[in-house]
Amino acid sequence: MIKRELMDILRCPACVKADNGKLTNYKDSYLICADCGRKYPIVDDIPIMLIDEGAKYIDLDAESLEIPPVLAKE
Ligand SMILES: [Zn+2]
Repeated sequence: MIKRELMDILRCPACVKADNGKLTNYKDSYLICADCGRKYPIVDDIPIMLIDEGAKYIDLDAESLEIPPVLAKE
């Protein structure tokens, strides 16, 4: 579980400059940005707040996301 205090301050890094980027916790597996649709995977309770990472899932419906997230290996 991600702590509420953390959720209150976390914003999508792609949208935060415009004072947007509110995130929604999706099944404790992704944080979904309400503004751009980027989805940040949560791994071991730590959200991966990288713009590139979030953009990988931007066109996917939340229902199509892999749960738990599987990060591509480099
Ligand atoms: Zn965003």
